[in-house]
Amino acid sequence: MFADCFSLFFPRPCLACAEPLLAGEQHLCTTCRAELPYTDYHHLPPADNPLARRFWGRLPVCHTLSYLRFVRHGRVQQLLHQLKYAGQREVGQALGQLYGAELIATPALRSAFDFGLIVPVPLHRRKLARRGYNQAEAFGAGLATALPCPQAATALRRTEHTASQTRKGRLERWQNVATVFEVAEPAAVVGRHVLLVDDVLTTGATLEACGTALLAAGASTLSIATIATASTD
Ligand SMILES: [Zn+2]
Repeated sequence: MFADCFSLFFPRPCLACAEPLLAGEQHLCTTCRAELPYTDYHHLPPADNPLARRFWGRLPVCHTLSYLRFVRHGRVQQLLHQLKYAGQREVGQALGQLYGAELIATPALRSAFDFGLIVPVPLHRRKLARRGYNQAEAFGAGLATALPCPQAATALRRTEHTASQTRKGRLERWQNVATVFEVAEPAAVVGRHVLLVDDVLTTGATLEACGTALLAAGASTLSIATIATASTD
């Protein structure tokens, strides 16, 4: 009752366009839901999916899935800004849930039923401390409510190795920090079709590093899903 009155006087804004949400709308207004730039790549055979090419020759990926196309200054940029810099963890969850429901309803993507585990790209611990949550994990949590597989949020971890660098300058030292990923819970991934998730797919370098670690640890198959894909040119 109180919540209803509150939202009557202070309606929550749509997270993509900032217009006030109407009764029954959650996170996104009806217009944005209809007009977001969906990739719809999950309707294509994997061989025709343009995103798959980003990993050719680098990593064997079964499905390369991305919900939205990133358009500068557009709604998707606003959504990602809300998720990453405005504390709106639920943006990730809401988009994950919507996308998961769509994937599971897509006949061409039967192997969505084969996903055994969702694993998010881990966030750097300093960013995690600042943001309070991992945006990739928020997206994975949403996917896990719609897909028949759980998320293992801590299956991967970042490790930072620094070479001997006592004689290097400050900037050089910074650049010398190599971040790598390792599988913290190998037993969880062995023999599983792992769906690796992140917020944005650009060059795919981070996803490649994570995917390589997962396959080396015994994952049987690797697929990738991101909220958005940005052009690399
Ligand atoms: Zn909107």
